[in-house]
Amino acid sequence: MRNTYKAVQATGPGKLELVERTMVEPGPGQVRIRVEACGVCHTDAFTVEGGLPGLAYPRVPGHEVVGRIDAIGTGVQGWKLEQRVGVGYLGGQDGICQLCRGGDFVNCLNQPVTGATQDGGYAEMMIARASGLASIPNELNPVEAAPLLCAGVTTFNGLRHSRARPGDLVAVQGVGGLGHLGVQFARKMGFRVAAIARGQDKAELAKKLGAHHYIDSKSKDPVAELQALGGAKLILATAADNKSIASILGGLAPRGQLVVAGAGGNEPMQINPQLLLFGMRSLAGTLAGSSRDNEDTLSFSFLEGIRAMTETAPLANAAEAYAKMMRNEARFRIVLVTGQ
Ligand SMILES: [Zn+2]
Ligand SMILES: [Zn+2]
Repeated sequence: MRNTYKAVQATGPGKLELVERTMVEPGPGQVRIRVEACGVCHTDAFTVEGGLPGLAYPRVPGHEVVGRIDAIGTGVQGWKLEQRVGVGYLGGQDGICQLCRGGDFVNCLNQPVTGATQDGGYAEMMIARASGLASIPNELNPVEAAPLLCAGVTTFNGLRHSRARPGDLVAVQGVGGLGHLGVQFARKMGFRVAAIARGQDKAELAKKLGAHHYIDSKSKDPVAELQALGGAKLILATAADNKSIASILGGLAPRGQLVVAGAGGNEPMQINPQLLLFGMRSLAGTLAGSSRDNEDTLSFSFLEGIRAMTETAPLANAAEAYAKMMRNEARFRIVLVTGQ
């Protein structure tokens, strides 16, 4: 029986260090997960760089976690030892608040945020609420499954809960960690897909992922390009760049929706309100998903052969992997592996 485990924790803004921690037993309603893989997401920056209100260091980042159940706390039902499970950004609803009672688990008023308000998956072990667990199908290996628990579910839910219907023009802005999955989901859901990114270097890849159209926002005006295609019913914004998100609103068809799935920090976005009034366009956000949404994302991905493009790094190299992701050099998801 091991008494300690390795973890990579943020100890102050921009600082990640590998430490040995004492093993903790899961509390009531919790399980302990032996982590096999954890994706490195841009949202980890809120933990590593700071900026999250109420963040307390040290904190282990990571919210695309896959592993096996290693210990089960009291009162947990429906989960078995050694079962492969995943945890995403939302760490599990309490099931008793007003929003949970209305069935809105994503917006639960008392939900831990994995890797932010509680320790996450840059570690060999992690404690998680059982209500936040997603069952991982055997057909997906841990490295394949991990990015689907944040990048995947965020784009999957953003698309499936939108007003766009099969055949409608859907634009995915940004072909990165989220966007490269969003393009695949959009195609397999039956939309006419336009991928938007800066420069020509992602054109071929976007087409390979299923985009019918590629718009290079560096050389062309994406608003004019989308309007030339009839206007988008949905623009799923995944680029962490608030200015470019705001600038694309005019690419929507009347009654179209701009759905923000990823944002660059807390800076305000400047929106032309005329575009909201005339044409009755709307602007909305989408946030990850419930544990059940995670399972839907995993099974749809398996069914349709959708995979994140990943590169792996050992847990001990987490700081390096994180820095690479922040330099926008990950293609497209770095997944930390523990070798357990
Ligand atoms: Zn994430
Ligand atoms: Zn709740």
